Amino acid sequence: MTLLAARERETVVLPVSRPVLSEDAMVICPKCKAMQSVQISEGRMTPTRKFAQIGMRVFHDCGSEKPCRILHNI
Ligand SMILES: [Zn+2]
Repeated sequence: MTLLAARERETVVLPVSRPVLSEDAMVICPKCKAMQSVQISEGRMTPTRKFAQIGMRVFHDCGSEKPCRILHNI
């Protein structure tokens, strides 16, 4: 997949009704540019040490007020 194609699937909201059990995604903090590969399953992200899901969005622990960007199916 090209970078351009990946960017077209960029979002800040986790998918709820996606008919797949789980997918690989990349979360990117808009503030400090930290990124981490994560697994998303039925709208829930597998928690990591630095990234946490709040509602349908993912936030980094650096204190960023903006939700992380999510790149799907990378
Ligand atoms: Zn951050």
